[in-house]
Amino acid sequence: MKRNVDLKDISDGNLYGLNDMVKADCQDCKGCSDCCRGMGESIILDPLDIHRLKENLGLSFDELLQDKIELHLVDGVILPNLKMSGERDCCTFLDETGRCSIHGFRPGICRLFPLGRYYENRSFQYFLQVHECKNTNRSKVKVKKWIDTPEVTKYQQFISDWHFFLNDVEDWLETVVEEQMRKEVVLLILQTFYVQIFHSGKDFYEQFNQRLSEVKSYLHL
Ligand code: SF4
Ligand code: SF4
Repeated sequence: MKRNVDLKDISDGNLYGLNDMVKADCQDCKGCSDCCRGMGESIILDPLDIHRLKENLGLSFDELLQDKIELHLVDGVILPNLKMSGERDCCTFLDETGRCSIHGFRPGICRLFPLGRYYENRSFQYFLQVHECKNTNRSKVKVKKWIDTPEVTKYQQFISDWHFFLNDVEDWLETVVEEQMRKEVVLLILQTFYVQIFHSGKDFYEQFNQRLSEVKSYLHL
């Protein structure tokens, strides 16, 4: 999702790489669960997030849609996000004690917080969001440790490829006059990257790259 804000207004002014130290460690959040509540549609899920949820919970995409995720339009494309619900207006994975019940396979945005991603030149770096986390006593941690993601080099390439693919699709959709054609492509993306399963016995990234190159070739991107 594009945010039209000036980086200097929301960050400490620095950009960080995987091996940099950043003041992001909330020390286990200590009873706070603010960023799991009242987040609206902002926790957008990428294909890897959905793959992990389906695999670890043993649910299909349609079953996740029943109460755990929802769909909304983001820059012309339909994407899933974590659903906030109930009196607490919270993520359905937040348990009664205020802990994440899917910590081991929580989505990428949850792993990042309070870091964000700054995309530029077909790549990205991390930045520290200074107005989001209320814990003022955060300590320094290496970015790589904080995001706690296996095969992090492949993961970063995937994040970058997915982000810029969606940007290219947005531009492409603006050139298409026929409404029906736009709808078909939006549904093709949803079906290919979210509904259709990625086989658990095979490398996720290889399967993703194969699908990405097929869709890009179909759209002449
Ligand atoms: S998945 Fe876990 S960390 Fe992410 S919003 Fe839900 S409860 Fe919070
Ligand atoms: S606002 Fe900060 S301390 Fe509270 S749950 Fe989020 S990351 Fe943890």
